[in-house]
Amino acid sequence: MQGQYDIASSGFPPLSRLKPLPDTILDTLIVGQGLAGSLLAWALLGRGQRVMVLDDGHRSAASVVAAGLLNPITGQRLVKGPEVDLCLPVAQRCYRALERQLARPLLHALPMWRLFQNERERQAWEKRCGDPAYAPYLGEPLGAMDYPHSALGGFVQTQTGYLDTNALLDGIRAGLQQLGAYRQCAFDYAQLELQQGQIAYQDLQARRLIFCEGWRALANPWFTELPLAPARGCILTLHSEAPLPQVILNQGRWLLPRGQGEYRLGASYDREGLEAEPGEAEIASLLEQLELWFAPLPAYRIHAVQNGVRPNSRDRQPLLGLHPEHPALGVFNGFGSRGAMLIPWHAERMAELLCEGRPLPTGLDWRRA
Ligand SMILES: Cc1cc2nc3c(=O)[nH]c(=O)nc-3n(C[C@H](O)[C@H](O)[C@H](O)COP(=O)(O)OP(=O)(O)OC[C@H]3O[C@@H](n4cnc5c(N)ncnc54)[C@H](O)[C@@H]3O)c2cc1C
Repeated sequence: MQGQYDIASSGFPPLSRLKPLPDTILDTLIVGQGLAGSLLAWALLGRGQRVMVLDDGHRSAASVVAAGLLNPITGQRLVKGPEVDLCLPVAQRCYRALERQLARPLLHALPMWRLFQNERERQAWEKRCGDPAYAPYLGEPLGAMDYPHSALGGFVQTQTGYLDTNALLDGIRAGLQQLGAYRQCAFDYAQLELQQGQIAYQDLQARRLIFCEGWRALANPWFTELPLAPARGCILTLHSEAPLPQVILNQGRWLLPRGQGEYRLGASYDREGLEAEPGEAEIASLLEQLELWFAPLPAYRIHAVQNGVRPNSRDRQPLLGLHPEHPALGVFNGFGSRGAMLIPWHAERMAELLCEGRPLPTGLDWRRA
């Protein structure tokens, strides 16, 4: 095994402070370098752990496809879950700290224009306006002159934006490679051995192995009970020179401006055909949204059609914790459509469990025990 690292402080480590350690048993082996595996590895490194991350080159990574939207208020009922107040500030701080460490922009704050889809959504907004818990996230109502407009109106959402997920994955992978803590390979479950409560995998030995495989955990023979309910989705990348609004538009479908004429338009939702490719009808139904918003329709080119699978859990809450009979094995998964907001806070809780033995807060364990 190549160089490992040694740092004393907690929090995300500046790369310059990580020093190689002699070959020795790993603290944690991580399978999967999506957002979950990346941010968990970084949280563990920050606590001085010896880590190794294995990934198959993002063959099935939702994180590579995701728009990375941070949206505290979701669904037509405009609900803010209790986790938002906990997770959003931690995510914002985490990405700003990583921007400094990795020396690249990651988090892009952008207002979101929420255009009502129906009367029920408009009524939900009126109700939320009187609720102080929603005040930090609600901006002004949209005016009749705002463009594009919806017949039912809309409002500005605040504390929204997007995470550049690929910049984060590339930056963390480069950091891990620099430390000799990354290998590109497909993990083969058949080669995993548990020896006296520890992990042996090929030439690696570790105290713990944490699976962060996203939706492909469906094939994990050690966690057959994991309550995953994944959903495939497609996103289009468009280019347009037209003067379109530089805010995130959201009316069920959303349009995200990424600068220099690039836009992402999404997303479809399919629980059945997880391995299906997006068909013409699926792409056309995304593009129809542009006709609803813009008249005349701006000229655009389609640059990319991307497809990924969201690792949703059945109850829409993250799935983390250890195996009930083999506590050397664990999972960190189930972040669904909200990985950008949820993962940093949960990575801290998982790191506390792994490093300090601190139990997960009630209800967080994947068995909901
Ligand atoms: C269309 C779409 C739009 C989305 N939009 C948003 C959004 O706007 N905002 C948001 O917050 N979230 C969004 N998401 C969800 C977001 O992508 C996920 O919450 C998050 O990326 C999950 O990260 P993960 O690391 O758990 O899984 P993944 O990103 O899937 O990472 C798992 C990694 O493990 C690797 N792997 C799996 N099995 C093995 C194996 N046996 N051996 C080696 N490697 C393996 C995979 O190749 C992959 O690299 C979207 C997802 C999709 C599909």
